[in-house]
Amino acid sequence: MRAMVFTRVGAPLEQVELPEPQPGPGQVQLAVHACGVCRTDLHIVDGELAEPKLPLVLGHQIVGTVTAVGPEVTRFEPGRRVGVPWLGWTCGRCRYCSSGRENLCDRARFTGYTIDGGYAEAAVADERYCFPIPDGYPDLQAAPLLCAGLIGYRALRLAGDAELVGLYGFGAAAHIICQVARAQGRRVFAFTRPGDEQSRAFALTLGADWAGGSDERPPEPLDAAIIFAPAGELVPAALAAVGKGGSVVCAGIHMSDIPAFSYDLLWEERAVRSVANLTREDGDEFLRVAPDVPVHTKVEPFPLHEANEALQRLRSGAVDGAVALSVGPARQL
Ligand SMILES: [Zn+2]
Ligand SMILES: [Zn+2]
Repeated sequence: MRAMVFTRVGAPLEQVELPEPQPGPGQVQLAVHACGVCRTDLHIVDGELAEPKLPLVLGHQIVGTVTAVGPEVTRFEPGRRVGVPWLGWTCGRCRYCSSGRENLCDRARFTGYTIDGGYAEAAVADERYCFPIPDGYPDLQAAPLLCAGLIGYRALRLAGDAELVGLYGFGAAAHIICQVARAQGRRVFAFTRPGDEQSRAFALTLGADWAGGSDERPPEPLDAAIIFAPAGELVPAALAAVGKGGSVVCAGIHMSDIPAFSYDLLWEERAVRSVANLTREDGDEFLRVAPDVPVHTKVEPFPLHEANEALQRLRSGAVDGAVALSVGPARQL
């Protein structure tokens, strides 16, 4: 199979031919149709996430069709379309796994980081961590649901019952979560890079009630803010924008250092927290919610062999919505 492989920080992904991975016990083998490109992939190639397997096939938003199953597989049969997310395996026994917090498992393995992912024509995955893809989503449009959507949804849930939500960084996750939040009857204020008129306009088309620069004070205090951009300076900015009792949820896996700030910004029961990974429960719930909203994803596609260009395009910040790799023949539903 063809795969785009990460070998070391600073080097572009290399296109190589690898033997097709064979499914072990409990695993399914997939023909990959699409794989979302995530900000986390940039953190890996930039060396900001320190422990990838090497060499590594990146990609943790895989949409594919089951082509073969290993022993003991019970959930999926060949021909079934499934999605593979970031959470690829958990131990099932540690104190986090046994208290409904498998996202924090001490021994968790992650797709496209410590397990080979979907920047390839084929992949294998533990069937217990795969999700059926809802009908009505073509492969490319489904791909960003699997991380941008799913972890974004967890971040929104951790924002509690906030009626007015600020989204900092209007990329793949925010473009999905804006739609979900509006469908839940919340209001959304979108914060983009200062001067980024294109993203502001995009946010307004998706139902945002206000859009401005991340350096602007919103017209009224937020109940909660979710930070999707990996920029630590947004934490004090968001704290200044939330009202008393408001929370700031940091949704990325990596962020630049947070500058020191006055305790006044945290005072009055404001809170800052992060969101780590996902549970399978988050995934099941979000993939039920997405078609009901219905969430429409905007995706800029790249062929598999242009994975480096796709990463650069994501890095540029100029994308409305998500970036995804299209792998193999297009398959519409
Ligand atoms: Zn565990
Ligand atoms: Zn991701």
